[in-house]
Amino acid sequence: MTTKMIRAIEGTRDYFAEDGARLSLAYTQAEAVFGRYAYKRMHTPVFEATALFARGIGEATDIVEKEMYTFKPGSDTITLRPEGTAGIVRAYLQHNLHKQGDSLTKLWYAGPMFRRERPQKGRQRQFHQVGIEAIGSADPLLDAEVVAMGIDYYASLGITGIRTRLNSIGCDTASCRQAYREKLRETIRPQLDSFCKSCQNRFERNVLRILDCKNPHCKALVKELPRSHEQLCEPCENDFATVKNTLTTLGLNYELDATLVRGLDYYSKTVFEYTHSALGAQDAIGGGGRYDGLIAELGGPATPAVGFALGVERVMIALDALDIAAPTTGIEAFVIGLGEAGHAKAAELIAQIRALGIVAEMDFGGRSLKSQMRTANKRGARAVLILGEDELANGQVTVKEMRKDGGQKAFPLPEAPAAVAQIVG
Ligand code: AMP
Repeated sequence: MTTKMIRAIEGTRDYFAEDGARLSLAYTQAEAVFGRYAYKRMHTPVFEATALFARGIGEATDIVEKEMYTFKPGSDTITLRPEGTAGIVRAYLQHNLHKQGDSLTKLWYAGPMFRRERPQKGRQRQFHQVGIEAIGSADPLLDAEVVAMGIDYYASLGITGIRTRLNSIGCDTASCRQAYREKLRETIRPQLDSFCKSCQNRFERNVLRILDCKNPHCKALVKELPRSHEQLCEPCENDFATVKNTLTTLGLNYELDATLVRGLDYYSKTVFEYTHSALGAQDAIGGGGRYDGLIAELGGPATPAVGFALGVERVMIALDALDIAAPTTGIEAFVIGLGEAGHAKAAELIAQIRALGIVAEMDFGGRSLKSQMRTANKRGARAVLILGEDELANGQVTVKEMRKDGGQKAFPLPEAPAAVAQIVG
């Protein structure tokens, strides 16, 4: 009987070689760029109580209704996190971060997220995000800073061609979003039959979602509907003007898009999305917005906040389309030990070389001098150290410089690491 090979689950994947390096690059750039804006890294669990997401994301969203991985391992009901914000806010409240020091808390995160969506290009069931949350300020300058930081992040990776879509969906008061929702319903009601089935479902539960329906027929109808950013209450209108003016002052381009409402329930006021043409149908590379109501929804004091989440796989697609490779570290030195004694000595010598911060490798397969030289060459070593019988007898090692016309010279063993450092330095 042959054993069937076990493969990765559909919608998940392995990252190695070029893609592995790009995934790491997406994380290291997040640390560098978000760090410049004074964000601190936060790690939260990959699974949380299901209620956190049901309340935090909104019961009537696609994610909560059908896309979550939910388990009942005992008496608890747990869910693999479909996004990062709910967990960060839970941690923020649980650890009383709002009572510590500054009134504004800036946190960033990176890691896998899980959604049971239909897999396609740029859409997986386990995917990765880097994201930030700025909790504790309603200042629209902060919204602008967050939008600008996302643009800064893509630029730091060398990704050109990012488009920023911007909208304001107002606050949840009678004179703002509530009035807008009613106005939308009034306009849609007489023509509701012309909208697709999903939109008809959304009409009562979440009418704003009709605005971002992907159905071409609905899209045409949506164009004629009242626009949220033209129906704002005065404070929201003023804040939105500040966001737009600040981005303009910073020299950043954006497009107003009245159909942008974002998928999750918790957004208010500023919402934005970054898109890239290399992504095809799933062209959103990242997105975010203000969520002034979420912290109270999760049992905390009313606290304004703004954040974004950027899709790492989509960053990787853009990097690939633009032919941007992540830097990989090659080998700097290769130590060849021949025979049993040479092999043992190589292990000792390589430790001294690595202690100087040099990337060094040796052979672990008992292969010949010729074949080890070939490996050293192939892996780009700039210096090769040879411990053969003669060298060992004299307490020496031959150090060979691998560049064209590079020479070779025997050194007493204790002097070899410094000689290598000179070659690779
Ligand atoms: P969202 O919070 O749903 O807007 O997600 C933020 C970003 O994460 C999106 O703009 C995408 O770049 C990325 N993203 C969301 N869902 C997926 C998925 N299933 N597979 C890959 N990337 C995703």
